[in-house]
Amino acid sequence: MIRLENIHKTYWNGSPLHVLKGIDLEIEQGAMVSIMGASGSGKSTLLNILGVLDDYDEGNYYLDGRLIKGLNETQAAACRNRMIGYIFQSFNLINYKNAMENVALPLYYQGVSRRNRNAEALDYLDRLGLRDWAHHMPNEMSGGQKQRVAIARALINRPRIILADEPTGALDSVTSLEVMELLRSVNRDGMTIICVTHEQTIADLTDRIIHLKDGVISSISEPRPIAAPSEKGVLYDNRLTK
Ligand code: ADP
Ligand code: MG
Repeated sequence: MIRLENIHKTYWNGSPLHVLKGIDLEIEQGAMVSIMGASGSGKSTLLNILGVLDDYDEGNYYLDGRLIKGLNETQAAACRNRMIGYIFQSFNLINYKNAMENVALPLYYQGVSRRNRNAEALDYLDRLGLRDWAHHMPNEMSGGQKQRVAIARALINRPRIILADEPTGALDSVTSLEVMELLRSVNRDGMTIICVTHEQTIADLTDRIIHLKDGVISSISEPRPIAAPSEKGVLYDNRLTK
């Protein structure tokens, strides 16, 4: 699904900053992986390249067999719309639109009629347990609810990949687990999920942990096993049945 060969990225504002120094990585379709690394290690840079939001300087990036290189903005946008859903730490909801309108937004850009996109948005909100919140504004919702709205928005295009940049970074630990559980259920439906986090407990809920250090992948590790069933029984069971 994703193959990176010797990816380099340097930022050039001020003195050059060589952030990615030869990333080689393969992520198969249907995987759920996390990317860990210290603050400033290039996790978001890597995710933005994977998400066709930013360009790279050297190497090759193949997405679904297609070389993603030197695309113009129209091509990049088409690729993003077709393939990728995004989730951010800060939710990135539009404050003056209600939950339904936020979820429907990607369909607006595809030219879907208001009636059809709102119907579809309600369906996704329903699946995420937020039907009753469809007409609420983001500032009336909790962090967990906002992130669920953002997940619905990411899913509505039926992407092949979900890229999540610290999706639990602004949430308490219980809500974080709920969000990860939601991403796992999306993953079980076949979606590839790549999740940036700096929390080991969050990374442990993915299948594989990619460690970024000094601009390269320093190691790839398995999640730590969960020791014993706890009141987080749902998560525990899901891990067992995976
Ligand atoms: P992480 O997500 O791991 O915290 P980032 O990928 O955001 O790391 O950033 C890696 C490094 O690149 C940091 O030193 C950051 O300050 C720098 N950086 C990120 N984006 C830009 C940019 N657009 N221009 C210049 N420097 C940037
Ligand atoms: Mg970051």
